Amino acid sequence: MDPDCLFCKINAGEIPSTKVYEDDDVLAFKDIDPQAPIHFVIIPKKHYDSVLSVPAGDPIISHIMTVANRLALKYDIADAGFRLVNNCGAAGGQTVPHLHFHLLGGRDMQWPPG
Ligand code: 5GP
Ligand code: ZN
Repeated sequence: MDPDCLFCKINAGEIPSTKVYEDDDVLAFKDIDPQAPIHFVIIPKKHYDSVLSVPAGDPIISHIMTVANRLALKYDIADAGFRLVNNCGAAGGQTVPHLHFHLLGGRDMQWPPG
């Protein structure tokens, strides 16, 4: 755990969140500023600064994908379509330096995202 990291604090329960999924390695919670009717943040419990910090062959990314699929089915956004987003680095739109994916659904998405 990084004691200065917002998402590590959420994982530790030091900052409250509305959890929608949890297992030994992954936590998902509602985004505090939702950009779609469904907007969840999916994080590894282990701290990685960004996707660039994940070693080759680390199973965490596929695990997160599996969790995203499950959540999409559970929250009924799978059939209509949804978006899974990773922002990496400041110019990539990453504001919290703990690896996370956004699961967005419940509305039509635009492309390019801007
Ligand atoms: P990023 O911009 O790094 O890709 O995404 C960070 C996300 O975390 C943003 O969508 C933001 O709304 C969300 N967020 C920031 N602080 C909190 C918080 O304290 N609680 C929750 N649930 N989400 C947060
Ligand atoms: Zn962290």
